[in-house]
Amino acid sequence: MTYHDAHVHFFPTPLKNAIDQWFAAAGWRLHYRGIQSESLLENLRADGADHLAVLVYAHKPKIAASLNSWLYQFGLQHDGLHLFGTVHPGDSDMASEVARCLDEWNFTGFKLHANVQQVSVDDPRLTPLMEGVLARRRGLVIHAGREPHTNSYVGWQAFSRLMARYPQLKVQVAHLGYDEIGEFIAMSRDYPHLYFDTAAVPSPRFPLDDARFLDIVKSVPNRIIYGSDMPVMEESVTQYRHRISKILGDSAALQHKVFVANAERFWGVEEHSSQCGTY
Ligand SMILES: [Zn+2]
Repeated sequence: MTYHDAHVHFFPTPLKNAIDQWFAAAGWRLHYRGIQSESLLENLRADGADHLAVLVYAHKPKIAASLNSWLYQFGLQHDGLHLFGTVHPGDSDMASEVARCLDEWNFTGFKLHANVQQVSVDDPRLTPLMEGVLARRRGLVIHAGREPHTNSYVGWQAFSRLMARYPQLKVQVAHLGYDEIGEFIAMSRDYPHLYFDTAAVPSPRFPLDDARFLDIVKSVPNRIIYGSDMPVMEESVTQYRHRISKILGDSAALQHKVFVANAERFWGVEEHSSQCGTY
């Protein structure tokens, strides 16, 4: 079976190694420790992932532009990648960086990591990002939840203030909003372009009862998108994908929504298909 993975991180080697080290120090037994982007991509392809959303994030000011350039170059060398760039709240050139990525490079959107980037998603410094993405009908992948560690920037309240300000914003909430899944999913009633990726949920690190997971998917079947969070995993992508597929069960329609159709709708491949010629 081929499928889409809507939550994958590739980074330049020094940054990948630093991220590995951070998680290892926090006690994670990373399955893909020390493995770099090209090999990670091969692993995903071998598992059947044909289209991938590749997410980067700048953990400090003044590196977003070079990360985005690296991502653009990586995207040029491979088919089927949907690129999500980064901006940092401390950078003054946010509007021009947004324009460069979306207009010149045709990125599918941006990734925002409230936890690592230490910014509340409703911080007014992010206005150029929000308005730039909204005006071009592109997407945002936002890590707004309280895992893997909590701080004052994360949680559903700040996210709900963001959505109240921009109700038409197209957002993929990472990790189902773990560990406030109920609060995040409830917002899908009010916002027509709100999606949720599964990334690493459920897993031993982020447990969720199978029946509860299936109930959540069935409650908003057009909003849940499969994502692995590769390479930040303590198991292989195959192990994780099998778990999700098994929980979803025998319904081919539901499997198709989660593993293919919802990602395509979020990426806007019909209206924005120049990166992907295979649809
Ligand atoms: Zn992630």
